[in-house]
Amino acid sequence: MYRYTVKGVARFLALVLSLVLNACSQNGWTERERIIIERSDSLMFVTVLPDDSVLLRTPSIEVRKQDLQSKELKTLMAKMLSTVTDPSQDGVGIAAPQVGINRRIIWVQRLDKEDEPFECYVNIRIDSLFGDVKRGPEGCLSVPGYAGMVSRNTDVIISYADLESGETRKEHIAGYTAIIFQHECDHLDGILYVDRADSVFVNKAWMEELKQFDYTRPDWW
Ligand code: ZN
Repeated sequence: MYRYTVKGVARFLALVLSLVLNACSQNGWTERERIIIERSDSLMFVTVLPDDSVLLRTPSIEVRKQDLQSKELKTLMAKMLSTVTDPSQDGVGIAAPQVGINRRIIWVQRLDKEDEPFECYVNIRIDSLFGDVKRGPEGCLSVPGYAGMVSRNTDVIISYADLESGETRKEHIAGYTAIIFQHECDHLDGILYVDRADSVFVNKAWMEELKQFDYTRPDWW
């Protein structure tokens, strides 16, 4: 038989409170994530191999349902879009680990839609891969200067969170846009295209661009 003392009850309540607080904060925005999101310019620092291997290789976690309307998510989404569409990057997609945040968030240019808009997907997963397998060239903002030949399916079913309701939405994507989705979702699982490529080579176009680049420009410094 237990004897309930005031001290014992207080200790028990403190333990319950700490467990509840811990559960509530589980997978909420961390201080490190907040600093990266709030303190960066609209153009975010892009993580690259080999310097940022740990970040790029860490599987990403979901954004909590109660954070889908948070200012942190809105700011991060806006800054990721500015980064991928900036002429210095000029990508067709970007994943959150590429700006130092291990969350399941990507932007993809919907080349399959009129006007080819960029769209953001939060808590995205690929449910299934099907269709033909096609081999084509891929590059990555996080592996600058290289390109590789990768074989991927032409069709995917994706699921992601609706930011208003938090409900899961599903969509069938086909064609080259499905390739972009696979490349970006791979980032969320710590996989890079170089892992899947049957050959990787120096991107000659990029080398040419590099040769043209004038490091003596005053604005470079
Ligand atoms: Zn990439």
